[in-house]
Amino acid sequence: MTDLMDGVTPMPPMPCPACGRVMTASGESPFDPHGTEPRPQGPQPGDTTICAYCLVILVFNDDLTIRRMTAEEWKALPTEVAEGIIVLQFAVRQAFKQARGRGDPTSN
Ligand SMILES: [Zn+2]
Repeated sequence: MTDLMDGVTPMPPMPCPACGRVMTASGESPFDPHGTEPRPQGPQPGDTTICAYCLVILVFNDDLTIRRMTAEEWKALPTEVAEGIIVLQFAVRQAFKQARGRGDPTSN
């Protein structure tokens, strides 16, 4: 499994629109809507990410605030991108389980 910390970039603290917990970092999106190589640093408008707490799928707005991905957007994603997001959700869930196993006080 890849290291979850790879490609994690800080972002301005913002509450998750679904669970309200404040997110301070964004994982690298598996989906680059701009097709640019190399990717610019940090989240870009249109990038997808997930909430590390409730695993909801999020999209960055043009002003880099976050909102929930709509069902229409989800359906429009290429299959490999949707699969990448599901894999990421699974990886985050596993990482949280492991953190709990170590008695990490930040997980509750
Ligand atoms: Zn959340």
